[in-house]
Amino acid sequence: MVKRRYKNHYVVYKEEMQQMIQQQINIGGDIQQALNEEDFFLEYQPIVDMRTNRIKSVETLVRWDHATIGTLYPVQFISLAEKTGLIVPLGEWVLREACTQLKKWQDQGFTDFNITVNVSTFQLQKMESFYEMVQKILKETGVPAENLEMEITETIFMENIEALFVIVEKLSDLGIKISIDDFGTGYSSMSVLKYLPVHTIKIDQSFLRNESDGVKNRAVIKSISGLAKDLRIKTVIEGIENEEQLALALKEGCHLLQGHYFFPPSSVEDVTAYINEKTILIT
Ligand code: C2E
Ligand code: MG
Ligand code: MG
Ligand code: MG
Repeated sequence: MVKRRYKNHYVVYKEEMQQMIQQQINIGGDIQQALNEEDFFLEYQPIVDMRTNRIKSVETLVRWDHATIGTLYPVQFISLAEKTGLIVPLGEWVLREACTQLKKWQDQGFTDFNITVNVSTFQLQKMESFYEMVQKILKETGVPAENLEMEITETIFMENIEALFVIVEKLSDLGIKISIDDFGTGYSSMSVLKYLPVHTIKIDQSFLRNESDGVKNRAVIKSISGLAKDLRIKTVIEGIENEEQLALALKEGCHLLQGHYFFPPSSVEDVTAYINEKTILIT
C-alpha cells in the first residue's frame, strides 16, 4: 500500500518535473518573442511615507502575459532571462516603460514621487552599454535622473565589487538613487554601505516572518535601521501585511513602508487613483 502510494507519487512527480522542464525550455525561447510582441507588462507598488502619509515612490514589478500559460511572475522567468542574456533587452524595456509612465504621471501634475526599478546584476556587468542605455532613456523620456531609483540585490555586490563600484558611482553621479534590495539576506553588507553611494536600504521581508515571538526579527530590524540612520541612509521595510508588522516598523523608527497592508502591486489606473486620493487610506 505504502509502496504503491510512493510509486504513484513518484510517477506524478516525474511527470511534473518533465512538464516543468519543458515549460522552462518553452519560456526561454519565448522571451524574445514576448519582447517583440509586447507581452510583458508592469505592475506598480507604492512605497509610503508614514510621516507625511503620502506615496514616496512607486516600485515597478515586471509580469509576463504569456499566450498559453497565463500571467507569469518574475520567479518564473527572471533567472532564465539572465541565463539567456535576454535580461538585457528585458531590463531596457522595463526601464523605458517605467520612465515613460512616470513622465505621464508628472505631466498630469503628480510630481512628488519617484519611480523605482529592479536591476539585475547581469545588466550591470555590461557597464558601458548599461550606462549609455540609462542615459538614453532618461533623455528620451524626459524623466529627471533624480526621480529614478534603482534597486539592486545585495548579493550581486559580492561578485566583482570594484567594477560594480564604478558603475554604481557613475549612476549615482547622474543623480539616480541607489537602493540595496532584500537587505540582510546577502553575505557581507557592511562594506557595501561604507563604500557605495547607497541612498536606501530595503530590509528583506523575511525579517517580518517565520518567528513566533518576533524577538530576533525585531533585533535585526532595529540594528539595520539604527546603522542606516547613523550612515544617513534611508530604510524601507518591505512586505508589511498586517497591523502588528506596521507597529513593529514604526516602533523601530522605520516610516518608509511597503506591502499588501498598504497597496498590492497594482495597475496604472489603480495607482493613479491612489495618488489622486492624496493621502494613504488604511482600511
Ligand atoms: P523585490 O524587488 O524584493 O520585490 C518584492 C516582492 O514582494 C514582489 O514580488 C512583490 O510583489 C512582493 N510583495 C510586495 N508586498 C508584499 C507583501 O506584503 N507580502 C508578500 N508576501 N509579498 C509582497 P514579485 O513581483 O513576484 O517580484 C519578485 C522579485 O523579482 C522582486 O523582488 C525582484 O527582485 C524581481 N523583479 C521584479 N521585477 C523585476 C524587473 O523588472 N527586473 C528584475 N531584474 N527583477 C525584477
Ligand atoms: Mg525590489
Ligand atoms: Mg529582489
Ligand atoms: Mg526585496
